[in-house]
Amino acid sequence: MAEPIRVAVTGASGYIALHVIAELLDGGYAVRGTLRDMARGETIRAALSRHTETSNLEFAPADLTSDDGWDEAFSGCEYVLHIASPLPIVEPKNHDELIIPARDGALRALGAASRAGVKRVVMTSSVAAIGYGHEGKTDFTESDWSVVLPEIGAYASSKTIAERAAWDYVNALPGDRAFEFVTINPSLVIGPLIDPDGSASIEVVRKLLAREVPGCPKFGIGLVDVRDVATAHIAAMTSPVAPGNRYICNTEFRWLVEVARQLNRDFGPRGYPVATRVLPNFVVRLVGLFDKAVGRIVPELDQHKNYDSAAIRRDLNWRTRPMDETVKDTGESLLALNVV
Ligand code: NAP
Repeated sequence: MAEPIRVAVTGASGYIALHVIAELLDGGYAVRGTLRDMARGETIRAALSRHTETSNLEFAPADLTSDDGWDEAFSGCEYVLHIASPLPIVEPKNHDELIIPARDGALRALGAASRAGVKRVVMTSSVAAIGYGHEGKTDFTESDWSVVLPEIGAYASSKTIAERAAWDYVNALPGDRAFEFVTINPSLVIGPLIDPDGSASIEVVRKLLAREVPGCPKFGIGLVDVRDVATAHIAAMTSPVAPGNRYICNTEFRWLVEVARQLNRDFGPRGYPVATRVLPNFVVRLVGLFDKAVGRIVPELDQHKNYDSAAIRRDLNWRTRPMDETVKDTGESLLALNVV
């Protein structure tokens, strides 16, 4: 039997990466997942084993902040999916704490991909690299780039700077060291978890379901299902038309209160009533002075940003689940894994 095609996935412990790895293994690929802490390998394998067969999965050490291990991690791989990047719940005061690992880690991954002679790299960027720092603008496509200003915060700055550095690097590569390159730019990713140690993006649903918040700020955001984001990565890896493109992955915009109302309908009768009142902006601003996680959304209050996913739907035939299903499955997963 022919050897399976090997794919390197960076940050194999991550929320999105675990779904990508599960889909790759299901699709018959062999996966080498990088970890900065190899001690987590067996827990991750056990979590994935509940979803798929993992005999074609191996792990290799690599840290975004160190040169060690990257060449070994990518050797013999046809594709690299560079997903790792820091995404903390609370933004650090010093933006460099995120910018440096995100940018330098991406450059380390791309350098190693070039040396390994991989065919294509798909890098997980974000709408945070697209729609921030534009006063008054509401409609965004892949031709937009966030403007790196102090007020857009550490995370959006890190994603913008890392993605720009990646395109600059790839576009400057000589032909004999070049590879194909695509970025996937998701909006806020929710949906079921494979491992209980989920992403910061799940926090919003977790906090609502755990009734840790008294109501909802007038805050809304583009949402996308983690399973659809995984499918987007695989399509970007294999499609002949994907190279050279950034692709926004967004299902739809929802106000937080709409998510809360659905959670309340789905889980309230099961003993998890969710607060559905809308909090006045002045209350949110006040709380934001003391609570950094709340402070992070203050600049976004009342904003309705549209991220257009027409390109990926057209080029890669990308289809998304209904958002009601995603919200429900997120809640079910948080309860099943005892996260709430
Ligand atoms: P996550 O669960 O927090 O995963 C982040 C991954 O990056 C983890 O595997 C983490 O490893 C790894 N990482 C962080 N710092 C590292 C370092 N110094 N060296 C090596 N690995 C490091 O977050 P996620 O939601 O899956 O996000 C994955 C990617 O999608 C990120 O690039 C993120 O910016 C992007 N994204 C996420 C969303 C979203 O809403 N979730 C939306 C748009 C884009 P440890 O487990 O060791 O910490």
